[in-house]
Amino acid sequence: MSKERFALVIIDISHERLDRPFEYRVPESLLDAVSEGAEVRIPFGKGNKERRGYVVGLKDEPSFDRDKIKDILGIVESSVGIESRMLRLAVWMKKRYGGTLVGAMRTVLPVKDKVKAKVYRCISRKVSIEQLNEEAGRLNPVRFSARIRLLKAVSEVEEMPLEFATDKLNVSKAVIATAVKQGLISLREDTEYRNPVAEKNTRYDRRAELNDEQQAAVDAILKEAEAERKPVLIEGITGSGKTEVYIEAIAKTVESGKQAIVLIPEIALTFQTLMRFYARFKDRVSVLHSKLSEGEKYDQFVRAEKGELDVIIGPRSALFIPFNKLGMVVIDEEHESSYKSQNMPKYHAREVAEELCRMSGAQLVLGSATPSMEASYNAECGQYLKLKLNKRYGEARLPKVTIADMREELKAGNKSFFSRVLAEKITERLVKGEQIMLFINRRGRAGFVSCRSCGHVIKCPHCDVSLSEHTGGRLLCHYCGYAAVMPKNCPECSSKYIAGFRAGTEKIEEEIAKAYPSARVIRMDGDTTKQKDAHEKILQTFAAGDADIMVGTQMIVKGHDFPNVTLVGAIAADMSLNAADYHATERTFSLLAQAAGRAGRGDRPGEVVIQTYKPEHYSIQAAAAQDYEYFYKMEKAFREMADYPPFTHMMALQYFSADQKAAFERAENAASAIKDKAGDTAEVMGPFQASIAKIRDIYRVVVYIRSRNEEALTQAKDIAEKLQDENRDSGKKEVTLQTDRDPVSTL
Ligand code: ADP
Ligand code: ZN
Ligand code: ZN
Repeated sequence: MSKERFALVIIDISHERLDRPFEYRVPESLLDAVSEGAEVRIPFGKGNKERRGYVVGLKDEPSFDRDKIKDILGIVESSVGIESRMLRLAVWMKKRYGGTLVGAMRTVLPVKDKVKAKVYRCISRKVSIEQLNEEAGRLNPVRFSARIRLLKAVSEVEEMPLEFATDKLNVSKAVIATAVKQGLISLREDTEYRNPVAEKNTRYDRRAELNDEQQAAVDAILKEAEAERKPVLIEGITGSGKTEVYIEAIAKTVESGKQAIVLIPEIALTFQTLMRFYARFKDRVSVLHSKLSEGEKYDQFVRAEKGELDVIIGPRSALFIPFNKLGMVVIDEEHESSYKSQNMPKYHAREVAEELCRMSGAQLVLGSATPSMEASYNAECGQYLKLKLNKRYGEARLPKVTIADMREELKAGNKSFFSRVLAEKITERLVKGEQIMLFINRRGRAGFVSCRSCGHVIKCPHCDVSLSEHTGGRLLCHYCGYAAVMPKNCPECSSKYIAGFRAGTEKIEEEIAKAYPSARVIRMDGDTTKQKDAHEKILQTFAAGDADIMVGTQMIVKGHDFPNVTLVGAIAADMSLNAADYHATERTFSLLAQAAGRAGRGDRPGEVVIQTYKPEHYSIQAAAAQDYEYFYKMEKAFREMADYPPFTHMMALQYFSADQKAAFERAENAASAIKDKAGDTAEVMGPFQASIAKIRDIYRVVVYIRSRNEEALTQAKDIAEKLQDENRDSGKKEVTLQTDRDPVSTL
């Protein structure tokens, strides 16, 4: 006897209350056909009206009385379509990252509600210009003035939007309808897709002649796409032509009738990059970004579904564009933290792309000058195929990098923010009329505590991350909760220069104004870019040469080419090394390596000054030498020793509640349940108060789970979620849970 199967079915994917799917029995005849994501016909409600639904799960035991469960009627054969594939992806995401299925579905499926496609209507003449003028001449100019205005206007232009006639010419719709009836004009309706690229500069054609290294990379990608389809990782220094390689590989994919998705971190999506894609793919490529309206975004999904697009470019959400024949996914700047979603489900685009490619038989291509530890490690283990681009295209040379040891500066009596060497070079550039970028690396939000005399940073004895300063002189570890008192003197060298480091962009701007009163300074950071378009305006001002110095956070380092910038200064290069987060070193390295790649992209050679209290640290040394391999080797050894990813995996359970005690209690219960059931494969840490203990009166409590076994983390997550469900049912105080797999920032 074959065993029974039950299917979880969702009726209407745009409906709100569908977190709990309905259960149906899978009849024996359909056992082979019904799988997750399948579209099925089912009897629904009291009248057993036939409806369609999607299978979002299968199980052997029903949760209800067997007698009350109805049978699935049949399967909708044509449902191999894109919607069911996206649903399967949502199911996978829910399993891996937690949260509700509906939440995952909302992430994966486009918002269909409200936004209608805009209809474009235009008027054109149906008879000759002479006939129109003749007709206008016959009409009484007083009684028919509107009709005359219309006919004159139509005789002057080939085509006129309907709104122009009604709004600008003040011609009523009735008048237009009459003219149509008389056969003088015609009214054409078009569903006009809002194309987000205003300047459709697709006339010029551009095709790069690849150099040998680039061509070899393209060949290797295409070969892999025909074979095992392992993800390909391109490690290529800035300017080595990674984008040219993507474009060529995509062009071949498109030629074979398939489509491609290109992910680019929003901040790095420059006009030049876009135009390179447009020049090659014309109106078969489109873009998604956060500045598009919901309507414009939705239009791109419709165009994709209809087969009007071959290539889409966008941030991580572009992964969910409904391509029927997906052939390739490219993730540029693969190491960027913006590929991790900070909302539930907290998915990582790299992982989702891997799954999507597996499901659709597509090839994944990752690219970076400084690949993430995860990607490099996967390549080392043979799960990814690694390709290298070592040459900068053309004669572009790497800039000269100087490391300024700030401890020496203090010894020499220089207490300012600027080292002598940086100050000197700034003056030089100002005299020559060249531009300067100064950035302060402020990733570590909470102020770490360091000694300005010897560079010593106070760290947690248990976690090897820096402690951060809280009110009342308390120092806290955000990983394990370890607390200490702020010392009066440096524990290393006994100097009294120990304090929380608090320099910000504003402070730097002030100091620059003092030191170089004649220099024109422009600042770019979270504060100055709040307004829409502010970001572009600042960049334009700088590009136009209307400022000499741009001061900013790391956002100024990414993706912009200013040929007149010949000096880049990193003010507190090691600041981010001290963030209470195991990604800190990796971020510092990649940021500095990118900054070094910024200077001197024009014909003039560039220079970079890295100011640091830790000149000997491998992340600083490797960035200055643009030596990724050295960085990877050192960081890998550290991660392995400290039991951090990619050698282990982590799951953060983040509890939120207005009631601090309730949040701790729930977290405590989860922690002990996980210890009970998975304690031998997973290490449970916490619960702890989050580094920001309360936001808007909502308390935040965290539990960290760490394991070498990924399954153990999924299990831990399931235990915590089950506990949530049980407590929801019993109506206890509201404590919400968010699960974060391999978190990129600490809570
Ligand atoms: P990456 O993405 O690796 O930083 P890009 O693809 O942006 O590098 O290339 C850097 C610059 O060199 C770009 O201006 C690009 O147009 C140019 N370039 C790279 N390869 C070629 C090529 N084969 N032919 C013409 N120009 C190229
Ligand atoms: Zn000291
Ligand atoms: Zn600690």
